[in-house]
Amino acid sequence: MRGIIFDLDDTLYKEMDFLKSAYREIARVIGHPEAFDFMLDSYLYGDNAFKSVIDKYYLKFTADQLLDIYRNHKPNISLEKDTVTTLEALKARGIIMCLLTDGRSVTQRNKIESLGLYRWFTQEDILISDEFGYGKPSIECYQYFLDRYPDAQFTVIGDNPTKDFLTPNRLGWTTICLHSNGQNIHDQKLDVEKSYLPKHSINNLSEIKRFC
Ligand SMILES: [Mg+2]
Repeated sequence: MRGIIFDLDDTLYKEMDFLKSAYREIARVIGHPEAFDFMLDSYLYGDNAFKSVIDKYYLKFTADQLLDIYRNHKPNISLEKDTVTTLEALKARGIIMCLLTDGRSVTQRNKIESLGLYRWFTQEDILISDEFGYGKPSIECYQYFLDRYPDAQFTVIGDNPTKDFLTPNRLGWTTICLHSNGQNIHDQKLDVEKSYLPKHSINNLSEIKRFC
């Protein structure tokens, strides 16, 4: 029996799409649709986009209120065709499909819902750190799936060498890193200790079919 544990952000979809969706929603709520471009520019420039937009439009909103919208809005995001085809193919092969993601419950659940991931992942096979009480790389996250499927051989696919592969490596599992296309929200740090590095790297999610 084989299982795959997917990371969510910047693995199944690009987190930058979530950021853009949130900025669009904020621009709508504050009544300045053109603020979308302004916020995106200020983010890419390395500024605090919330503070910048508050200053520019003399908003009565606080940065915390804008952050709330960012975290709690229903995102307009979708899976790439390639990703859908890949998930479909893996599921059809009877592979156990698991999702392990660090983040807030509401934020991650909204993303999962918008991406339509319940089509391939059951509630029990989705682990969100905020709900579970442990995040990566805690062994508890992986033990959860081991307890559910004691006979499974697991492969882990993620994008973040600082936390996605360490524990699965220790467990002797197959680890795969999806290379950033330069658009990832968090820089892909590859200058980490060897134990943190993935065993394999791919440029497109569809390549995981080769490993399972
Ligand atoms: Mg990630």
